[in-house]
Amino acid sequence: MKEKYLELGVSEKVFDFGAQIERELKERFAAIDETAEYNQLKVIAAMQKHRVSAECFMATNGYGYNDLGRDTLEEVYASCFLAEAALVRPQITCGTHALALALLSNLRPGDELLSPVGKPYDTLEEVIGIRPSKGSLAEYGITYRQVDLLPDGSFDYENIRKAVNERTRLVTIQRSKGYQTRPTLSVARIKELISFLKAIKPELLVMVDNCYGEFVERAEPVEAGADMMVGSLIKNPGGGLAPVGGYIVGKKECVENAAYRLTSPGLGKEVGASLGVIQSFYQGLFLAPTVTAGALKGAIFAANLYERLGFPVFPGGSESRHDIIQAVTLQTPERLIAFCKGIQAAAPVDSHVTPEPWDMPGYDSPVIMAAGAFVQGSSIELSADGPLRPPYAVYFQGGLTWYHAKLGILMSLQKLYEAGLVEL
Ligand SMILES: *Cc1c(COP(=O)(O)O)cnc(C)c1O
Repeated sequence: MKEKYLELGVSEKVFDFGAQIERELKERFAAIDETAEYNQLKVIAAMQKHRVSAECFMATNGYGYNDLGRDTLEEVYASCFLAEAALVRPQITCGTHALALALLSNLRPGDELLSPVGKPYDTLEEVIGIRPSKGSLAEYGITYRQVDLLPDGSFDYENIRKAVNERTRLVTIQRSKGYQTRPTLSVARIKELISFLKAIKPELLVMVDNCYGEFVERAEPVEAGADMMVGSLIKNPGGGLAPVGGYIVGKKECVENAAYRLTSPGLGKEVGASLGVIQSFYQGLFLAPTVTAGALKGAIFAANLYERLGFPVFPGGSESRHDIIQAVTLQTPERLIAFCKGIQAAAPVDSHVTPEPWDMPGYDSPVIMAAGAFVQGSSIELSADGPLRPPYAVYFQGGLTWYHAKLGILMSLQKLYEAGLVEL
């Protein structure tokens, strides 16, 4: 085995260090496999309940009326996530689009949006209008209020209570940390927060940004009382096979509102041809629990490896997991860049190219991204990225298989080691 790694460019020293870390993680990996097993059964049960059949995989075109595959898939998603309804479409271009759709369709001029968990994901700043942008909620007269988490990561209940007012209509809760070093929220903590909010104002709608969270736990945010749960199909639930797409699941009315905005008033869910991608949505969902498990193992391996080397890691090596993202604070731009080069060098696709920082649309500082993916930008595939700003944290995620994730992490360490940026 070692020889194979040496062939791929991992030195003996790095390999041995990794092997030692891996040996200590046996029990954690077994627990992850159990969650995957549970979630696999959940997905199969939903597919059986809705009688998924070969006819569901046929391509439709034009208006896409009576698209059996599309309509059945939406029922499968709703059942799997214990929701009333679902919108799962290739016409939803990415996670940001799905979130914007959920917000723009369920808020009206004069309403206020509240984030009780601090600043949302970078790209949502423009959706909301925190950074002025064409088509933002702000342009439509929808205001925004934010309550930050307390320094220890807990909810600031006192200020959340004060922030809810007669105009507060929708609350957005981001499960994952995104590009921040704050704790990711467990479904149990999300449930606590939703209960608190609904006790103050029962008619509030709660949306959970579920990006990177699907299938990490046995329960999902809808079970915690969320009215909508939103995510991207080129993250966990697409299982690496969906080439595009996003989803919104939740209350029937919320999902319908989103459908009328995605297509048109009067048309809603009735149109939208699936053009032959729908089989990959089914097959990806089928694989998603085990793919997510592989990615989680990679995240935990990276956390323990870099923690042992003295870098601050979020979450910590032994902490419980609620998403697949691992942040490692590398403290210098040189280390951040070397880490990403290692991830790139381990890829099955584009391993020969070198990632460079660039000004990516939607982000306010240059970002470096490493990914050699089958689907462009897919972050359920092994990828690493980070904004070039202090504390130079790299956000590492994905891996369609644990073995690829492991190789990527070893190569990241290899690049740091070769450049004299760490000592082993
Ligand atoms: C990825 C992500 C988004 C945005 O998704 P894109 O597909 O990149 O547009 C939003 N929120 C969170 C927490 C994410 O991780």
